[in-house]
Formats: sequence, C-alpha cells, structure tokens
Amino acid sequence: MHKLLSELNLGLSDDSWIEDDSHIFRTLHYRDILQCIQFLLAHLPFQVHLDFEPVRLADPEGHQIYTRMDSGDWWCDTQDQLPAGVMIVPVICASNKTHLTNFSGDQHAWPLYLTIGNIQKDIHRTLKRSAWILVGLIQCPPKGAKNIDEAWHNAVDTVLPQLRHLDITGPGLKCDCADGFQRQCYPLLAACVGDYPEPVMVAQVSYDSCPMCEIPKGAPIGHSTFRPLNNSRDQYIYSELLEDNNIDALHTVGLCPIHNQFWQYPICNVYRLWQPDELHQLLLGLVKDLVHWLIK
Ligand SMILES: [Zn+2]
Repeated sequence: MHKLLSELNLGLSDDSWIEDDSHIFRTLHYRDILQCIQFLLAHLPFQVHLDFEPVRLADPEGHQIYTRMDSGDWWCDTQDQLPAGVMIVPVICASNKTHLTNFSGDQHAWPLYLTIGNIQKDIHRTLKRSAWILVGLIQCPPKGAKNIDEAWHNAVDTVLPQLRHLDITGPGLKCDCADGFQRQCYPLLAACVGDYPEPVMVAQVSYDSCPMCEIPKGAPIGHSTFRPLNNSRDQYIYSELLEDNNIDALHTVGLCPIHNQFWQYPICNVYRLWQPDELHQLLLGLVKDLVHWLIK
C-alpha cells in the first residue's frame, strides 16, 4: 500500500524540484509555482472547500462581516480592478527562518511555503489536509556574504516569477478546478505570513521599524506628535526617492535604500502583505505595549 501511495502521480513528485546554482545561497531548490497552484485548485479533497469569487457579508444593522478570505476587502477591491469574469487566485506565501544545525557553522535556511486563499481557512489550519506546499528552499549564504537582503529577494523572485510577469490586462491562465469547471485565473501575491524578521525582509525596512506604516521607530502607542501614526507606506514615493538617490529621506521612514522586487508584482501592496497574527502582533505587541503604558 505504501508503495502504491508513493507512486501516485499528483503532479508534484520528487522530480518536480528545479535546482539553481546562480545565487549566493548555495543551491536554490524550487518548484514551478503554477504547477503547485494548479494542483491545489484541482485537488478533489478540496472540492467543497473552495471559494471562487469575493462576497460582501453584512449583519442586520449593515455592518460588514469578515469571515473567510473571500469576505475580505482585498479580494473585493482587487476583483474590481480586473476584467469581468476572471477568477482571482490569492497566493499566500509563508516562511520562517529555520535553524538546521549547530555543528557545521550555524546552518539555517528559509523554507518557502505557498497556498491559495481560495481554499477555506479551516482547511489551511489542518496540517494533514496538505493545503500548504513547499515551493522553495533558500539555504543560508556562506559566511561573509554581502547584500544578503538583496540576494534573498532575488532568490524569492526566482521562485515566484510567474506572479511578477502576470499580464493583468490579458485573459489570465486557464486552470482546471476541483468542481469540474475550467476558469480563467489570475494568481496574485496577496499575503506573506511570517514572524517579524520575514516581513522586515520583504518590506526592506530597518529592524524595529513597522513593515506596514511610517510610525517612527520605538514610538509608544498614541503618542507621536510629528507624524500621523497611520500614515501608510507609499511604494511609488519610495521608488522615486531611490531613483533620486535620496537615501536620507528613505532612512527617515525606516526604509533600506534597496530596490524592492515586490514593487514589480501586479496589484501588490508590499506594505499590506503582512497579515495580523494573534501571537506576535496582538499578545506580544499591542497588548504588551498597552499594559506597559497603563502601568506607567
Ligand atoms: Zn505600523
């Protein structure tokens, strides 16, 4: 039975891995993400757990209700920017720097996982349903390597090129879905899940800065007098500052003066990729800071 199961061809066998030696991160192993997305959409066990279009839900008083990803603002707003009738495939990436060994120079790696927001959240959370696919393994760079952040971005970009090059005015990609229909799909990078260091790397902000907004480094809750706390980051202003080589202005908003690859991804707001997470943002972040402030 084990032999039969291991021989089942789900389209994602061991030979689906591609190797690339052109990065400073030794050999980069990655999978074709379109194959992975197609696999998730057509996987029959997910048949009754797939969402294909956004919905607006409201309670009897007219207040919007947020439940699954399809009821979120991102999906509705993004759908409005695309040709009628196409299906958005919200791509969610996750990574967490992983310590491998202490015995040969503190080896670590960044495994890069992918899932799609069409699969309902109850299925994402269940480990044995395999809704997450390992799509890349970025190994640690050799000691003394320079420009690690830039190289990390290049490595991630090697894994996700189809997302960057998607033509959002074109017909999209024809994909088979588990309900037996074919749909014109637009896979778009929607979210990155990680602890604090990964969003910092994705957003290319200096450590201790907020990856989402321009709140000054170390500013306590509700006490900034010189810049609106909810001032969201603006990638267009930053790319212009970078072109003008205005490094000081970038440092003022906590940004590293590096061209961010994610600016090139269609309909992708780099500073909204990091999603709320109960442990790190609420319990260890907001609640902890609030308690300190109340005690003072
Ligand atoms: Zn913020």
